[in-house]
Amino acid sequence: MVLDKLGNSLRATLEKVAKSVFVDDKLVNELAKDIQRALLQADVNVKLVLKLSEEIKTRALKEKTPAGITKKEHLINIVYEELVKFLGEKEGKIEIKESTKIMLVGLFGSGKTTQAAKLAKYYQKHGHYVALVQTDTYRPAAFEQLKQLAAKLNIPVFGDKDEKDAVKIYKKFEKKLEKFDLVIVDTAGRDALSDELIEELDQINRAVNPTETLLVLSADIGQAAEKQAQAFHDTCGVTGIIVTKLDGTAKGGGALIACSITDAKVKFIGVGEKVEDLEKFKPENFVGRLLGMGDLEALLEKARDAISEEKAEDLGKRFLKGEFNLVDLYEQMEAMKKMGPLNKIVDMIPGFSSLKMPKDALQVQEKMLKKWRFAMDSMTKQELENPDIISAARVKRIAKGAGIEVSEVRSLLKQYKQAKKMSKMLKGGDPQKLMKKLQKGGPQIKFK
Ligand code: GDP
Ligand code: MG
Repeated sequence: MVLDKLGNSLRATLEKVAKSVFVDDKLVNELAKDIQRALLQADVNVKLVLKLSEEIKTRALKEKTPAGITKKEHLINIVYEELVKFLGEKEGKIEIKESTKIMLVGLFGSGKTTQAAKLAKYYQKHGHYVALVQTDTYRPAAFEQLKQLAAKLNIPVFGDKDEKDAVKIYKKFEKKLEKFDLVIVDTAGRDALSDELIEELDQINRAVNPTETLLVLSADIGQAAEKQAQAFHDTCGVTGIIVTKLDGTAKGGGALIACSITDAKVKFIGVGEKVEDLEKFKPENFVGRLLGMGDLEALLEKARDAISEEKAEDLGKRFLKGEFNLVDLYEQMEAMKKMGPLNKIVDMIPGFSSLKMPKDALQVQEKMLKKWRFAMDSMTKQELENPDIISAARVKRIAKGAGIEVSEVRSLLKQYKQAKKMSKMLKGGDPQKLMKKLQKGGPQIKFK
């Protein structure tokens, strides 16, 4: 199913965002490109794809990340919001007042007659007094088809299979139809858009003067949707869209195109051949399903979980100022575990980005980290904030409390001292000199 494919590629794109280390221009540009590719493959019109991806890009680059969420979460949210907006923001609602008239238009086989019956059932269930009118004189069996669909619903169907003039049929029943609060008018289609069809629609449109004109489009219509939506809209002012056959081999792209051409939103979707297979269209649900809402939640969680760019930057700065304690050291190690080597952090500090750190320096070892965490849990707040006060007696106490070796507590403190030393050198500020020292095997942080 193409819709699945679209969902998959959008999901993969957002996955990339969640996994990435930093949100920067490069990532945003890549994201915009990936989204373009995914939508183009789903038959969404190039112009619209560009508009949407530009919007996402502009927002991602300009908007400030709201407090309480990470840049990544923000970026994923933007994509979600823009897709929802693209599809219509609000759920498609049709207000049924006294004598509301809904007319269905669309090409042959798009699903007008079936949706007419579906809509009738839907609104009858919601307590409305509904009638159906068949004005399709082009297909001889159309009246019979609608009657059959409506038979089980106990909904009256008006039509005349011997009359060839659609307007005459409508006029014939106009008076009788006044007592219903909802009249649904089915119309004829053609295999393709023709002047003849346009002319007929124009006439029936004038005669019925519908409250709502719904364009029925099959989801697999693809790029042709643009031309069709435009022509139908020009003829009878489309106020809403029903996308049918979203249950089958569906490309959703066509529907998206039709929305923005007519500026009318998708109101319902057809998801099967039976009269109950109609769903109200809710953009959030649709995009949620497309992206996999469960997956989206997981993605957002992942983004939340990864160390935030802001935090890394803050750590980097404090490191530079020599203002860090054991808690910072631990956080830094955790950060590195998630982000890879320290050079990613150092990259963010102006002046240091050109430096390449020794590759295997700063590797974090899971086991040791765990032990150090235990050790830190056994320390007092004072000890954590000012490790210099940790005497031999305290080391013993900490090791015992943590259930680890004295030597392991000492290795943690040694690590801390080395890091502090390096931090002071950085504070002194000549990155080149520092680099040379590092290469000569000077003080290195080896988290082993
Ligand atoms: P019309 O020519 O526009 O009136 O189209 P019809 O209502 O006659 O429908 C054409 C075909 O599409 C019929 O075989 C319907 O059963 C089928 N159809 C209509 N809506 C849906 C839908 O939502 N899903 C599926 N799978 N088939 C549908
Ligand atoms: Mg029909």
